[in-house]
Amino acid sequence: MILPIVKYGHPTLRQKGDAVDTFDAALEQFVDDMLDTMYDADGVGLAAQQVGKATQVTVIDVSQVEDRPSKMAVEGKEVPIPDFMPLVLINPAVKPLNEMVKGPEGCLSFPEIYADIERPESVEVSAQDHKGNSFTFTCGGLLAKAVQHEVDHLKGILFIDRMERKDKDKLRHILEAMRETTQKELPQ
Ligand code: ZN
Repeated sequence: MILPIVKYGHPTLRQKGDAVDTFDAALEQFVDDMLDTMYDADGVGLAAQQVGKATQVTVIDVSQVEDRPSKMAVEGKEVPIPDFMPLVLINPAVKPLNEMVKGPEGCLSFPEIYADIERPESVEVSAQDHKGNSFTFTCGGLLAKAVQHEVDHLKGILFIDRMERKDKDKLRHILEAMRETTQKELPQ
């Protein structure tokens, strides 16, 4: 089922997600719905906050992106990305591994807005899958950006928080308008 994606100004986007401790059929259904929603919107990642639920669940799939490479390794061995997509990360934690790099980012909750964001080039990720099994991997390139962007969402952090001042200033009016429109549409 495709869920509505909430936009900037929706209060859930600023909420820290509760940890998931029940790995049941309802969680599995929610993960399926998030995947349907992400693919329908042509996104490479989606966090629970973006469908109005403050919980530690995110889905990612970078396998269709050809112009921006990704790297992934499990137990130190590089693995083919498509074998591990879509990624379902529940209760994830991210540890930076090396230097910061700048690259373009967008967000399904900020239609038409793109900016260069600086983040560590590669990260180590620990998470649980939809059955509650723990797993760890390292990643770089686009996948590392996507993971960090989505894990930020789970903490209520948005990519505009990491934009350079000058970029954010240029977008100020558009962001204001988006926030007002979203808040007007909220149920009273
Ligand atoms: Zn986003």
